[in-house]
Parts: sequence; structure tokens; C-alpha cells
Amino acid sequence: MAVEPTPIPAVVDSPAARRGPLAMEAIALCKDFRLGRGSVLSAVKDVSFNLYRSAVVALVGESGSGKSTVAKLLAGQERLTSGSIRLDGREVDVKGTRGFRRYKSEVQYVFQDPFSSLNPVHTVRYHLTRPVRLHQPHKSAHELDRELVRLIEQVRLTPAQQFLAKYPHELSGGQRQRVAVARALAAGPSVLLADEPVSMLDVSIRLELLNVLDTLRKDFRLALLYITHDIASARYFADEVLVMYAGHVVERGPAEDLTQSPAHPYTQLLVSSSPDPDDLGSMLRHGGKGSARQVGESPASVQGCRFHPRCPFAEERCRRESPPLLTLGPSRAAACWRLDVTAPAVVAQARGGGEGETTS
Ligand code: ADP
Ligand code: MG
Repeated sequence: MAVEPTPIPAVVDSPAARRGPLAMEAIALCKDFRLGRGSVLSAVKDVSFNLYRSAVVALVGESGSGKSTVAKLLAGQERLTSGSIRLDGREVDVKGTRGFRRYKSEVQYVFQDPFSSLNPVHTVRYHLTRPVRLHQPHKSAHELDRELVRLIEQVRLTPAQQFLAKYPHELSGGQRQRVAVARALAAGPSVLLADEPVSMLDVSIRLELLNVLDTLRKDFRLALLYITHDIASARYFADEVLVMYAGHVVERGPAEDLTQSPAHPYTQLLVSSSPDPDDLGSMLRHGGKGSARQVGESPASVQGCRFHPRCPFAEERCRRESPPLLTLGPSRAAACWRLDVTAPAVVAQARGGGEGETTS
């Protein structure tokens, strides 16, 4: 018998994600890019989630699914087509105002590429001094030096003075990424947007950097958005996972639960082509890369469910109508018309109702 899933509010937090106070709300974010000759690419469509202090939300999806665009919208680097962003309950101010400057220090962005994010002609000391001076202008020279040492030690680069004197070309990829993280921390942020922070690093040092980020999350009660194409690392690192496909969130839920019993066919594909998430040794050897990556034309132009051309369960309705996020239980949701076929266990759980969890 087909289950009638009920539409849910745009945001379904799982208790797992609520480790601390609410820091940031992304509400129905949409971003269209004009591509010329009247064509428009809907890169991000109705994406909503909350970031809580001390918790990690992962955005997972293959290249081109809109993950970086979400991060750039949150960082104020791209303008919203529609939707809104709130920090500490307040709507984000427009660019150029004092409120926006405060927002920019509260919300820091670490990029994927540690090789292009640092200026080759400047030392580590220079890279860290600028944000410290900007955000803590009254520090004496001695206090500034102490702050630089503290920052560089926080990302576990020691001896600190030696690293502060180095130029980017004298550092490994992992060390550069640590400097980029230290620079982000210099602004004293409450929200850190980490856009594929480990994907360009050697597989053997990815876990180390994730562990550094995890320690910083705890020590600074950071609300962390972790962007990755690797669902195994999301399971390892995140509390809540949102799976994106062609600009849409196709599934969301607590990291453990979602990766154990993926409901959406795309999440199932990501999980099945990823190394066993329980076996981190395997994750390191394989670098977490699966065969689930998209090839060919942009799925954003597909009618109906954007995943239907790749979906083994696609039927007529999927070609016509795009499914909304449908509730699967108290803190799980997926956008698929065939939830009864693809996720019998999860749907059975939804039928019985959840215990001890709330939907907001
Ligand atoms: P991801 O980070 O998941 O790889 P992106 O957010 O970078 O995805 O890109 C999502 C889609 O938006 C892609 O199709 C990409 O080509 C497109 N896109 C991103 N930035 C721009 C831009 N400035 N102009 C036009 N298209 C863009
Ligand atoms: Mg990206």
C-alpha cells in the first residue's frame, strides 16, 4: 500500500543538531544565475536549515549541486534571489552597513582550495595580523603577538613562531588549510562555513584536519556548516545531514540515521558508492570518492524530479512533477514520490510516529 506522506514545514531540525543556541537560520534560500540569452539557472531552490552553536550541519552532494552557492549566500558573497538569512534572530543587514560588517566577522568562510586562498608574497604572520587588527584594533604589539601565537597553536601548528615566519610555498596543503582556518578564527566568528575543507588534501591528512575542526567547534562553540561530496565524512563529522541534488535538498535528517537508512534514491546512490562509513581506514584509503558523480548535461534543466533520469524507480509522475520534501518521521524528510518503495523501513517508522523527538 502506498503511504501518503504529509508535507512538512521547510525546516525539520533533528535534536542531534541542537547542541547549543540557535545561531543562524537559512530560510527558503533561492539563487538564480542569468546565463544570457534569457536562460536562467536555478542553482539553489528553497533551501532551509538552522545552524546551532557547537553543532555541525553537513551539506552533501556531487559537484554542481549548489553547495558552494549556499555557502556564498550565507557569507554575503552572493545576493539572494529570494529567501532570507537570520543571525542570532536578526535579519541580515544590507552590504555596506555597520551591521553587515559585524555579520562578516561573525560568519567566516573557509574555502576548498588552500593553494589559492593565501597570498604567496606574504607570510603567515601577515595573513593573521590583518584580521586580528581589523577585529581587535586596540591590541598592543605584544598582545597582538600573543594572539597570533594563540591562533596558530589552536590549529596545532607548532612551534608557532616558526610557522608565523613562513611563506605559503613553505607549507604543505594541510598546513595551509590550517592557516586558513586560523585566519577565519581571528575574526572571532560564531559561524564557520567550511566549503570542502579537506577535499583537496592528501587523503592521509583529511581526518587530522577534520579532528582539528571538531576541537575548534567544541572550544569556540562554533556553529559549523561542513560542505562535502563525501557522505562518509559527513557521517563521521556532522550531527545533521542535508543531501543536495541540482539545487534542491532531496533528503535531510540526523547524520547517523540518514546514512544508515537512506530514503532518497540519490542518497542511496551516494551511500552505496561510498566506502563503508564505519570503516574510517577504508575512507582514508579511498578518499571517500564514490562513483555517484554526475556526468553529462546540467540536471537543473530537467523537468519534474531533477533526479528522475538517473533514478531506477522513476515513474510517470516523477517526469512531470517535482516532489516537495515529505516527512518521513519526526526529524527526517525526503523529496521522492516513491518513498514507500525506496524506504520501507523509514516509512514504517513514520507510520508508527516518532518518540521523544519534535518537529519544528
Ligand atoms: P557545488 O559547490 O555543489 O559544486 P556550486 O554552488 O558551485 O555547486 O554551483 C551550482 C551551479 O551553479 C552549477 O551549475 C554552477 O555552474 C552554477 N554557478 C555557480 N556560480 C555561478 C555563477 N557565478 N554564474 C553562473 N552559474 C554559476
Ligand atoms: Mg563547491
